[in-house]
Amino acid sequence: MPAKSTQSAGVSNRERMEDLLLGLKRARLSSVSDVDSLAKELIRLAQQEKDQNLEGLGCLELSAYHCSSTNEYDKALELAEKGFGLMKGSFKQKHHPHYQLAKGRCYQFLGDQPAAQSCYLDAISLLEKTNDKDRDQIHWQAACYYNAYILFNQSGMEFTREDFLEKAHQLYGSIDDFTGLSNIYNSYASSAFKRGDKKEALDNLLKAYELAGKESAHIQLSIYASNIGLLYAQQGDTSAIREYFDKAKEHTRATKSRYHEAHMNGQMGEALIQLGLEQEGLDRLHAASEILQEINASASLTGVFQKLADVYAGMGDFKNAYTYQLRYSQLLRERFKEEKTSAIAKARMFFNLEEKEKETALLRQKNEEINSYMEELRYSNEELKQFAYVVSHDLREPLRTISSYIKLLERSLAGKLDKDEREYIDFVVTGSRNMNELISDLLTFSKISFVTDVESIDLNNLVRQLADETIMHYRPEKHADIRIDTLPEIRANLTQMKQLFKNLLSNAVKYNSNQVPQVAVGYKEQDTYHVFNVADNGIGIPKEFHERVFQIFQRLHSKSEYQGTGVGLAICKKVVDQLKGDISIRSNEDGGSNFTIRIPKQSVSS
Ligand code: ADP
Repeated sequence: MPAKSTQSAGVSNRERMEDLLLGLKRARLSSVSDVDSLAKELIRLAQQEKDQNLEGLGCLELSAYHCSSTNEYDKALELAEKGFGLMKGSFKQKHHPHYQLAKGRCYQFLGDQPAAQSCYLDAISLLEKTNDKDRDQIHWQAACYYNAYILFNQSGMEFTREDFLEKAHQLYGSIDDFTGLSNIYNSYASSAFKRGDKKEALDNLLKAYELAGKESAHIQLSIYASNIGLLYAQQGDTSAIREYFDKAKEHTRATKSRYHEAHMNGQMGEALIQLGLEQEGLDRLHAASEILQEINASASLTGVFQKLADVYAGMGDFKNAYTYQLRYSQLLRERFKEEKTSAIAKARMFFNLEEKEKETALLRQKNEEINSYMEELRYSNEELKQFAYVVSHDLREPLRTISSYIKLLERSLAGKLDKDEREYIDFVVTGSRNMNELISDLLTFSKISFVTDVESIDLNNLVRQLADETIMHYRPEKHADIRIDTLPEIRANLTQMKQLFKNLLSNAVKYNSNQVPQVAVGYKEQDTYHVFNVADNGIGIPKEFHERVFQIFQRLHSKSEYQGTGVGLAICKKVVDQLKGDISIRSNEDGGSNFTIRIPKQSVSS
């Protein structure tokens, strides 16, 4: 059946792609040209399978191949962009640093150091934020640290990031990535060589060679073996020279890479000359120069021309010495243009750093400004609190005078007032009583934020007592039914707790037209909260006012219907806010109101 055959072809394609991925891992270490064919095959199969993720991965591999092998960096960049563009979802997310690493390498080879640096640093920051990294991700992170180290080292900038090399060392070590580790030892060797410590350089190179050998990483092995051969030649150890150049030949053959062949010839040539075998050495140097011209590797070529000029001069062949000196300086002039580009890039990097510093300074300044505004705000809040307190406190004094004198007036005019005059006096008396209540509530409200002392409170006793007082006050003869769950003991300010429950209980009974108001105070313990409920069967609060009633002076009724100042619920909210809790209203099914108060246990525990 066709459906089945497609499926089985699909499975075998999948398996083939798995094999290709493994093959690519190997080829990356040992034979660059194999990467090309394997990656192309992976892309072809992934297209057939409509697997955009693996097609994208194939493009990233191909990009790495062009970057390290054909020196077609623009093409490599294009492939990296394309590959990442094809990926989707979590696969894409995972490969984001991989893509940055690939791009970083291209820019590094192109001499655009700032761009390379920002790619590596982006990848590093993505990977530093990733938990539970797999082997690939750790490898990318190590490679980014390593490349960034090389970049900083080459850029001639003052700060060499030695810690990057150490981080790469540690990460490669954590996944037993021997080839990665061999790169680290190779770097140690170059530093030692630069310091003139040839013994340490050799030790590190031998270590690098041993490590790369564990994974048959021919690309690295070919370079290290040639370098070791040359170092031995400088020490005059003939048998070791032969041994390592034989090894170098073997590894170089395996890499199928022209560049590595040229490198080996160059090192061999120098080693032979060192041993006094000038003619043989010259042949090797010429072979190296031909390959390097073929693959257009001008940076390495300048070194070879210079070497040739030196050797000819040493041999007294000044004609050839002059020719190579000339070629060397011509090439240098050409490269000077490239160097200039790279110098501009370097300047740009410095400029960017400077810009960043400026930005940081600006940020710091803004932060300071914000802090000072906050300080001012805190100060003016404090002032406002004081102001509300002082005003409400001081207003009571003249009010007391008004009520006292109006009472005196009432008494001395007793029996002499007509009906209208009596009514006017009554207005003043009621008005000043209302104002007194209002000021008293306002005073309570403004005092809330000043109070800090707390004590242990058994809410069972407190709420029961408040409930009895409420009934006595609002329904002395008819009673009201207030049921109370078992409540917890908390640590809080006693006055505030009284205000909270008193206001809720009073409202529950006050805004109730039933013969016997029913009120239930409930309690539930949650993980981190104490949750209280005050439910009544009263007149209820329409849903659209559920938020608004918590604002100060917001009343839904006139004083003639229900007495009050509109401050009670605002006090409740402020008390609960102080404890970092919240208060809300739901309407009961029977139309009554149900207040829920949540208080974090942490705010009221000892
Ligand atoms: P006050 O009771 O002094 O007017 P509050 O701030 O305590 O002020 O309440 C604000 C408004 O919310 C009240 O005027 C009333 O209209 C409404 N309200 C408060 N609690 C209830 C309740 N349990 N049932 C019905 N309405 C209520």
